[in-house]
Amino acid sequence: MSASKMLPYGRQSIDDEDIAAVIEVLRSDWLTTGPTIADFERDLANFVGVDNAVAVSSGTAALHTTMYALGIGPGDDVIVPAITFVASANAAVYQGARPIFADVNPATLLIDPQSVIERMTPNTRAIVAVDYAGQPCDYTALRTIADQYQVALIADACHALGGLYHNTPVGALADLSTFSFHPVKHITTGEGGAITTNNPDWAQKMRYFRNHGITSDHRQRAEKGSWFYEMIDLGYNYRMTDFQAALGRSQLRKLPNWIERRRALAQRYDQLLAGYSFARPLAVMPDVTHAYHLYVVQLAIEELSIDRSQIFAELRKAGIGVNVHYIPVYLHPFYRNRFNYQPGLCPQAEAAYERILSLPIFPAMTDQDVDYVVEQLMSILR
Ligand SMILES: *Cc1c(COP(=O)(O)O)cnc(C)c1O
Repeated sequence: MSASKMLPYGRQSIDDEDIAAVIEVLRSDWLTTGPTIADFERDLANFVGVDNAVAVSSGTAALHTTMYALGIGPGDDVIVPAITFVASANAAVYQGARPIFADVNPATLLIDPQSVIERMTPNTRAIVAVDYAGQPCDYTALRTIADQYQVALIADACHALGGLYHNTPVGALADLSTFSFHPVKHITTGEGGAITTNNPDWAQKMRYFRNHGITSDHRQRAEKGSWFYEMIDLGYNYRMTDFQAALGRSQLRKLPNWIERRRALAQRYDQLLAGYSFARPLAVMPDVTHAYHLYVVQLAIEELSIDRSQIFAELRKAGIGVNVHYIPVYLHPFYRNRFNYQPGLCPQAEAAYERILSLPIFPAMTDQDVDYVVEQLMSILR
């Protein structure tokens, strides 16, 4: 591994089969709103074991669409973990609701159910659980809380496609689950996303929301030989194209092998870092299958003579594309200004943010790449 070629923290795997699948659709009659969308939705629903999947243009669109399906709007509160990508919280803001930030468990950085209870308000309508790094949240506790307070449970599962919680697939653990098919995620469609749910009414609402709020699509009208359509509510153009769906279908077939590979790479990191106190992997709960979108370590910064930004820069210099996931969302200027959030809101998230570092992990990475990353990390910390 030379420093001239950066080992990224994540990247897509595309083969000739994927390319052929895209080309086949490009040569067909339907570039968008065609049959391949329905095929991809059926494959994804089967994969996670639910009745409905709705494909959309991004993971962010998927999150927004769940907020719409639940009828969330102005005056409503939505509980979101402090450590996540900004899109998890932005989705509530798009609908005029207020994101309320719950703290995380310091060992896993997953949303802390106790903090969720503490942050409940009379206006809370939903909990967004983020399967951070690819580890499913504590869905037993979250389901109990959601039922007790009669709020919806949404899984932002953008990190966790292919994971399991107590043998149930991610995608079937919450009322609505969202996925992203951005190139760094488990499978890619370039840009793309989806929602999975067992609720047919929400599925129907989400299908017209992604299509301007119009209840029939172009293909349905072509089949009926009719020009008539009705827009029943304000929606968006959140559609995925059929050639993207073709790529998604082709990628999904490889996902089980990729998850296995990600887990093997994580295990190698775990073994190489075992007993090493300066960089500790996040805890993994029993009875989960971690999908390892990210491999995150917590640095013992108080015991080191070098700070995280120096460690980050040194690793980048060595050709290792480390990253930091994430800045606590409410510390961003938009959230401070719009909602008046201040530092101190989620102490565990803020403390963790100072210590975390994401090391490269993606299916095409070799065992030697893992060894190189750990060697470099240890030599910098020494
Ligand atoms: C990637 C990601 C999203 C957004 O997905 P896009 O497809 O990039 O819009 C949302 N939430 C989390 C946790 C993500 O990692």
